[in-house]
Amino acid sequence: MTPEKMFHEMLGLGMNWEVKESRFEKESGTVFLETQEKAQLWEGLRCPKDGGYVFCYDHTEEMTWRHLNVFQHRCEITCRLPRGKCRGCGHVFRVRPPWEGLISHFNKEFEAFALLLIREMPVAKVVMETDMRLWRMTFKHAARAYGEADFSNVCCVGVDELNIRKGHEYLSVFADLVPKRVLFAKRGRTKRFG
Ligand SMILES: [Zn+2]
Repeated sequence: MTPEKMFHEMLGLGMNWEVKESRFEKESGTVFLETQEKAQLWEGLRCPKDGGYVFCYDHTEEMTWRHLNVFQHRCEITCRLPRGKCRGCGHVFRVRPPWEGLISHFNKEFEAFALLLIREMPVAKVVMETDMRLWRMTFKHAARAYGEADFSNVCCVGVDELNIRKGHEYLSVFADLVPKRVLFAKRGRTKRFG
């Protein structure tokens, strides 16, 4: 089995994508997995607007997604993503690859790992990523989880206020008292309650 085939299996890329080349860059200590789509991707792909048949329009510049490390080495998936065009309405769209997380710099597994760490500690230095990317990713996941949360059984709500930043700001927290979970939290400069 070639290294490319092995990474293909490990990534679970399926029938529509393949690892074109895998290489280890010693100087930066990074494993690069260059991927590309296969022709059969287009057979199952439809226009997101009207469900029409699409063809390959062009490819983006090379993009990079951070994956979990291979041993202790940083690992990045690179790909020039295909853009599809609808035969019916002419709509051009970027094909979303199966590995992509909620932000376009990380893959799903890396996001899951970083989110787990973020609950426990400051992680930017641990995972060698910028604060900005990690916050953007965290907010996206929080927004999605919030959108999916079901508040229909809430019966007892409690409100409390915390003093943060030495009294210059307050944090109001609304909690569902039965399963003990936060429903809503809001930051503000004035004391709202009691
Ligand atoms: Zn269309």
